[in-house]
Amino acid sequence: MKPIILEAFAKINLYLEIIGDRPDGYHELVMILQSIDLADQIEITPNSTDDIRIECAHPQVPLDKTNIAYRAAKLMASEFSDAFVKHGGLNITIHKHIPVAAGLAGGSANAAAVLVGVNLLWNLGLTQIELEELGATLGSDVPFCVAGGTVIATGRGEQLSPLPSLDNIYIVLGKYRSLAVSTAWAYTTYRQQFGNSYIKDTQDLAARAAAVHSGPMVKAISHKDALEIAQQLHNDLERVVLPTHPQVLQLRELFASTGVLGTMMSGSGPSVFALCESKQQAEHVKHLVRETISDQDLELFVTRTHTHGIQVVSSS
Ligand code: ATP
Repeated sequence: MKPIILEAFAKINLYLEIIGDRPDGYHELVMILQSIDLADQIEITPNSTDDIRIECAHPQVPLDKTNIAYRAAKLMASEFSDAFVKHGGLNITIHKHIPVAAGLAGGSANAAAVLVGVNLLWNLGLTQIELEELGATLGSDVPFCVAGGTVIATGRGEQLSPLPSLDNIYIVLGKYRSLAVSTAWAYTTYRQQFGNSYIKDTQDLAARAAAVHSGPMVKAISHKDALEIAQQLHNDLERVVLPTHPQVLQLRELFASTGVLGTMMSGSGPSVFALCESKQQAEHVKHLVRETISDQDLELFVTRTHTHGIQVVSSS
């Protein structure tokens, strides 16, 4: 049987506000998530065994049961055990292009691709909503990675409400290869430093989420106005990551000095992105940053906003 090949897109956070604590230990968030066309390719091949095997050449990606793509396949195998018995195990090859531990949801995108791919390979007929619900049990960003586009996410990030899609806004993005920020560390540190200001009352939490939904960033997105969007970029986690990672702060300041529309760290970092007027500006800014920071540890990408979630490239 031929493999199924899928594209799994990274995300950036146009907006990330931490509004409170949750009884399950996570944070109550309001985020605006945006797919970008920086993507991993996921190849899923039935292997006629009862094993799930992960292959990936990237040194920071685990090949064992801790790989979230493996966990996604295991979840499908246990939820749909008859189909697993009928179709057998899978080889999952991850061609990694999304920087790892970067705040770009690379692992979550891989898991989303496995859910979508296995649904097709095993003819399960699951809807997108059903795949998102399965994804939420693997990680908060997985439902968004299934859906893609431009979305407002609440709860711990798994409750999605679509926004008008943004196409072709050019972005330049930088990430130091050797720098990784643990998402858990960033949120725990934020709680230690700023937990006193969290909203406690459930109704007030809902009101804050509603205020963001009717606020200036969502309006800017509705107008598809890149400059207005750039002026509304926000990420609470910058308050803990930038002071502890001077390289990230330096990169952000450098982007800002080049005349981009706006710049921000994505998720828990350490990726920093800048919204640009055009592809030419994004290429120019990449060039300027490379001239100032010649350190090859800094990876730079020109990418753009993307309107879809997981895409099937080829299937049998
Ligand atoms: P998020 O934005 O969802 O917090 P991230 O972009 O910060 O995610 P990932 O690239 O998903 O982070 O990687 C986080 C950690 O997960 C890595 O340190 C890596 O060891 C582990 N990991 C497990 N599976 C994968 C995978 N398929 N791809 C990348 N990393 C993975």
